[in-house]
Amino acid sequence: MDKASPPALPAPCRGRFAPSPSGPLHFGSLVAALGSYLDARAHDGEWLLRIEDVDQPRTVPGAADGMLRTLEGFGFEWDGEVIIQSRRFDLYHAALVRMQLDGDVYPCACSRSEIAAASRLSSVDGGLLYPGTCRAGLADGKAARSWRLRVPDRESTFVDRVQGQARQNLQREVGDFVLLRADGQYAYQLAVVIDDAAQGVNAVVRGVDLLDSTARQIWLQQCLGLPTPSYAHLPVVVNSAGEKLSKQTQAKAVDPADGSTVLACALEFLGHPVPAEMRDVTVADFWRWAISVWSMERVPAVRGIFPAQRP
Ligand code: GLU
Repeated sequence: MDKASPPALPAPCRGRFAPSPSGPLHFGSLVAALGSYLDARAHDGEWLLRIEDVDQPRTVPGAADGMLRTLEGFGFEWDGEVIIQSRRFDLYHAALVRMQLDGDVYPCACSRSEIAAASRLSSVDGGLLYPGTCRAGLADGKAARSWRLRVPDRESTFVDRVQGQARQNLQREVGDFVLLRADGQYAYQLAVVIDDAAQGVNAVVRGVDLLDSTARQIWLQQCLGLPTPSYAHLPVVVNSAGEKLSKQTQAKAVDPADGSTVLACALEFLGHPVPAEMRDVTVADFWRWAISVWSMERVPAVRGIFPAQRP
């Protein structure tokens, strides 16, 4: 990644926070929520909430409600209705049908073990690069398990507001990727693109762990004739073992009772020093001040930071 000037932020700006309800809201998700919220509000924009429960097996009952209550407790104010992905499968289906008609996607019969036997190359996600076995059609007697999107063999680039110039050759680094999984679930990549466009989101702010997904999402937008938002990928919070905070790494829930003390830590994590007098104020006072000082230019362009100051 090089530093290069990102395109101007669209006005009016519309941002969003799109957590997956796989556990409680932890410090890592609070950082992403805070960064996207401050960015939208500092630009007099709107901030939307979307529950990304498209991956049903990973969804924990009650987690979405818990996240909303926690965000409310920290004084986040969202615009409009909260969108729930599990109620929007018709939209994802319609997009897939359109891509089937356009020949953008193809059925794939490969199991994980067949891909492992046929591929030696790793993808950016740490998995195996799909070797393109079913690209030219299913072999005789094989049945479709999933649907994959064809990706081009050329470098795609975009300028991220935090990370600078990003480049990826989708075919060499990712491979044709799955939009409808063998277990019948729509892939995150498809759902996020449909919903960002349907909600008119034009300023995506999220964790840098999703930087490598962005070229896929931009390609999908191009296939579907949808606009491409601006992107800002924030540093993610890692534990002392260098792992991103998540349910899998037993990240603790943040507690709204800690109010501006925790919000101050999240803001400092994003490169904004917080004076002592702003650490113990009402959340309303904290937000008023934080919106006035927020600048995406201060956010460090790193992939992960250990939060020494985390409460
Ligand atoms: N649902 C994703 C997560 O919780 C975020 C997706 C996005 O912001 O595009 O990691």
